[in-house]
Amino acid sequence: MASEHDLSYILNELGEERDHYYNAVSAPIIQTSNFVFNKVSDLTKAFEDEMSGYLYSRGLNPTVEILRKKLAALDGAEDCLVFNSGASAIFAGVLANVKAGDHIVSVKAPYTWAWKMFDIVLPRFGITTTYIDGTKIENWENATQPNTTFYYLESPNSWDFVMQDIPAVCALAKSRGITTFIDNSYCTPIYQNVIEMGVDLAMQTATKYIGGHSDTLGGVLSGSKAMIKKIFDSEYLNIGSGIQPFNAWLLIRGLRTLQARLERITRTTGEVLKFLKSHPKIEGIIFPFDESFPQYELARKQMKEACGLMTIILKTEKRESIIRFCESLKHIMMAVSWGGHESLAIPKCAGIPESEFSAANREHRYVRLYVGLEDAAYLVEDLSQALAQVI
Ligand SMILES: *Cc1c(COP(=O)(O)O)cnc(C)c1O
Repeated sequence: MASEHDLSYILNELGEERDHYYNAVSAPIIQTSNFVFNKVSDLTKAFEDEMSGYLYSRGLNPTVEILRKKLAALDGAEDCLVFNSGASAIFAGVLANVKAGDHIVSVKAPYTWAWKMFDIVLPRFGITTTYIDGTKIENWENATQPNTTFYYLESPNSWDFVMQDIPAVCALAKSRGITTFIDNSYCTPIYQNVIEMGVDLAMQTATKYIGGHSDTLGGVLSGSKAMIKKIFDSEYLNIGSGIQPFNAWLLIRGLRTLQARLERITRTTGEVLKFLKSHPKIEGIIFPFDESFPQYELARKQMKEACGLMTIILKTEKRESIIRFCESLKHIMMAVSWGGHESLAIPKCAGIPESEFSAANREHRYVRLYVGLEDAAYLVEDLSQALAQVI
């Protein structure tokens, strides 16, 4: 994991060659599709290996290169690729490592667009997926078939924060020659270094904490040089979903304050959690670093810190109460996503048909809360007045 010293270097200096662009402090946005050549022999070289230099911005682009160096270093990986969204990073990372006839073992209820890929896209090409409760190592072992080539992890996930013992799953995979992939979006590499734990491909959405301002999408895949080269030469160039220079620039800007934002969010989240835990309208809170969390020990072992996402379970019999709570929030906004400056709330029941709502099902009463950069007292006051609406 990057030390504090390394982190300062990565976020402020690594990859930046300021004397090449007028000693500007801020990175340049090289908004170009193509690059000029003076010699045919150089062009030939670029055709042979597009990763060897600048040819066309669907491949390499100088602004993206700055970002790429920083994000690989942050993961402690040999190399990385930056995509136009987290979903495209997932798609390319999986597609590059499976073929017709292969079998995937995945955690149950992975990120929406991962399971849509497993259930809708991949079966068309003869690739099947088994979902398991990934909390137990024996479930991975039991689900593994002779044609299993890929393990898909997400730890923790972004609703109930279920985790896997990452080093144990990776060790099992290695002994069977299986490729491991993890969605590490919740923690970012600052709070959980999954490459160090033996994962082959570490993915994170850059839309959330890396960007940090809810103004761009992005996705990252990190791994060995060979793994990243393989993905670049095929899926990355073929799908053409690499990040655009301006969006890469926004992510470089986001990185400058990543550590500072995470530190503040972690502190504020602790204060908000303390308030919510003792509130009579709250039945429970799901948060990896809360002692009531079922995998608390594992969270402490694998994660350096927890972030700003938690799920609260409202104590109510009525769907209308949950709706009133969410709609009464004055400062905390109702929106999908997280990781930006703004605190957010999203009720699980928004995705459940009204006729199917059952208060007896705890999950139906979930409200996911994301703590942003606002002051803790400001958020507590807002939550307090909205909770008064819960009956
Ligand atoms: C948002 C998210 C993604 C997808 O990222 P996009 O940039 O929105 O495509 C993947 N995994 C998790 C856990 C996410 O929260």
